[in-house]
Amino acid sequence: MATKKNIKPVDTGETFTSLQISKSIDQDSMETKLRSLYKLQKTDSKIDGIYMLRGELPLEVQDLEDEIMGLKTKIATLQKEIKEAEETVAKNKLDIQSFKATIKKYEAQRNNVKNNREFDSLSKEIEFQELASLRADKRVTAASKVVVEKKETLELVQAQLKGREGDLENKRKELDNIAKETEKEEAELVKQSEEIQAEIDPRILAAYEKVRSNARNKMAVVTVVRGACGGCFSKIPPQRQIDIEESKKIIVCEYCGRILVSSKFDEEENGAAAVVEEAPKAAPKKKTTRTKKTE
Ligand SMILES: [Zn+2]
Repeated sequence: MATKKNIKPVDTGETFTSLQISKSIDQDSMETKLRSLYKLQKTDSKIDGIYMLRGELPLEVQDLEDEIMGLKTKIATLQKEIKEAEETVAKNKLDIQSFKATIKKYEAQRNNVKNNREFDSLSKEIEFQELASLRADKRVTAASKVVVEKKETLELVQAQLKGREGDLENKRKELDNIAKETEKEEAELVKQSEEIQAEIDPRILAAYEKVRSNARNKMAVVTVVRGACGGCFSKIPPQRQIDIEESKKIIVCEYCGRILVSSKFDEEENGAAAVVEEAPKAAPKKKTTRTKKTE
């Protein structure tokens, strides 16, 4: 139902609606015309499907590449932080050694002092060195903790990176395969579409392209599905449904401007599918926005 909103008004230029009213289209063999139009829609939808299939994968590959780049940056940052913390540990351990040596030296001096003033002065100096040593020790503890924590995080991120790199490789292969697989099929479908287009009145074709380009799901010709327009799901009055089934004239959905054709076209298409190939079956992944509602 969301489709309805996305369809722009179709009352400018040649539309199915204007064709419906104008009677400028030869009404003879209307059923054949409608049939061709529906066949064209089916073929074009298959081409759309191929584009969709391919269309999402490059984006997914791009997303993965971005994510991997982000993870690599994160790893580099962590490695730098670990190195810095390790340097802090090493430097402070050296400092502690030097403080301890100084303390030893002062203690020896204190044992040989001549007066109280000298004694007090050396005691103060020793106290100062001890405090400095204590502070350095705290820094060692803190930085060591940082090293352990960051290393744990680093391991996690590295595992994550490995996983994502695997995903990327698979996606790239998938994309390659789809491109290879669908190239031939796409070419055949395009040729088929062009052949059908050649049979269709240019004005009908223009309207078809117009409606198609305005519809999000690129459906311009739809069947009646359970009493509703197969494009926008608006209810269709019973008499109109009968008219549609008769295929004697162009009938347009008054809500979305799509042309409505007999659902028996669809059944025939599916039944005698000898001419038209199956839609691309590759990559059973995310649903594409391509509509399958009429099927
Ligand atoms: Zn509709």
